[in-house]
Amino acid sequence: MAMRLVWFRNDLRCHGHTPLRQALAGAGPVLALYVLCPGQWDAHDVAPLRRWYVLESLRELGEELAARGVDLHVIDGGDFAGAVEVVQRFVADRGVTEVFCNREYPVNELNRDRAVARSLENTGVRIRGFDDGVLVPPRALNTGKGTPYTVFTAYKRRWDAWMEEKGPPLPETPRWPGGQGDFVGRATVRKALAELSVSPRLTELWQPGEAAAARQLERFVARDLAHYKNRRDIPCEAGTSGLSAALSAGTLAPAQAWWVARLAMRDAGVREGAACWIGELAWRDFYRQILHRFPMLAKGAPFRPETRLLQWNDNETLFNAWCQGRTGYPLVDAAMRQLLSTGWMHNRLRMLTAMFLTKHLFIDWRKGERFFMQHLIDGDVAANNGGWQWSASTGTDAAPYFRVFSPVRQSRRFDPQGHFIARYVPELAELDNDSVHEPWKQPLLSGDYPPPVVAHEGVKQRVEAAFRAARDTW
Ligand code: FAD
Repeated sequence: MAMRLVWFRNDLRCHGHTPLRQALAGAGPVLALYVLCPGQWDAHDVAPLRRWYVLESLRELGEELAARGVDLHVIDGGDFAGAVEVVQRFVADRGVTEVFCNREYPVNELNRDRAVARSLENTGVRIRGFDDGVLVPPRALNTGKGTPYTVFTAYKRRWDAWMEEKGPPLPETPRWPGGQGDFVGRATVRKALAELSVSPRLTELWQPGEAAAARQLERFVARDLAHYKNRRDIPCEAGTSGLSAALSAGTLAPAQAWWVARLAMRDAGVREGAACWIGELAWRDFYRQILHRFPMLAKGAPFRPETRLLQWNDNETLFNAWCQGRTGYPLVDAAMRQLLSTGWMHNRLRMLTAMFLTKHLFIDWRKGERFFMQHLIDGDVAANNGGWQWSASTGTDAAPYFRVFSPVRQSRRFDPQGHFIARYVPELAELDNDSVHEPWKQPLLSGDYPPPVVAHEGVKQRVEAAFRAARDTW
């Protein structure tokens, strides 16, 4: 009898999961498998908070599948090489005839899946891959010359057309077998959770799992989507969806997010906000296709090769000041402290802090990329690498190295009342909404807030000179 296996990875959900639905649509039993790879998490410096989110979401998935008649096995594979062996052995031991999974596009994941496919091929077992992790698969769109898009605006035009023509169908729930299944991996997940060291102060801020992601999406669409375009850049307002952890761990299908926004667009008052939000889902796809089609990026290479020649500043004192939120620039510091105390940072502030590290301090973007991964609940190699390289001007930004944000101007513009700063930098709470942006101008400032670690004046000229020199020498 045909025995199908659904191999879960970064798609920890039941709804909008094509491999699960397809596997359950056929006759015969279906098993589910998740392979833990702590070695891979270590290699990418994945934050304990994110590991917790994934493990708790996995726990919910296991219980949900069991309640609907599907057994989920969780096996510790160690790393990707171990994962290949685990899948091989599992398939052989259980007499699996077909494996269903969603494709993953970074180079290590591709190599893992190729190794599994090769080993199963010889035994006549087929692997069927699907693309639920993105809206547009990373090889679907090419320029007229057959090359990948490297500029977002051009990519987005084609992305819109593709979505119009071939966008994913409305996600469905599978036809369940019924009966009670067994969550075989319960003890393994419990053990992995017990081994984690993550502060309850962080975990109490987040709700893992598919059900929580669905509620969050519903709340965001009902309350905030209409205002998204106007409020998305204001960090003291909850104007964005807060769904990045769900999208990157796959407790929410991107197709579900897209459909909900599309349907909301029928209301003229929501149209603009929803279109803008859909644009962010396109950015997500864009960076996935960039990472997939330029695999050297996953190995720490810059997208713009000439920027290899930049002589970054390796001053540890400055780097630590940035990490701790003690640069003397209030909005930069508030942002870093938001990251440390919540495991998340607002997008405007990710750009600001990344640009500050790489332009004002001229510290290697890879150090910042790594620090973000170590702390973000949504740490995602494609989006993080894309965001860092964009900010450092080593990446796909069409307006390259002369883009330097002024931390004071950004502060006045996006936190004019200083509300966000007051929330995370209590040393400055007593300042009025003018002086809070430049506290060094207040001679009587109490507390121990530091003066700026570097002056803003002259940064742009220094950065331009360094990039020009790299380009001319290349
Ligand atoms: P919303 O504004 O509600 O956007 C909806 C979704 O679109 C997000 O959940 C996310 O999946 C996607 N998205 C939004 N903006 C971007 C973007 N610029 N690039 C790619 N996808 C996007 N996002 C991550 O998911 N993981 C990361 O590790 C990550 N690192 C970043 C590092 C830097 C330096 C920068 C500048 C950006 C980074 N981003 C990352 C992108 C973005 O900041 C976050 O996705 C966003 O802040 C998440 O909040 P939200 O869910 O409320 O977003």
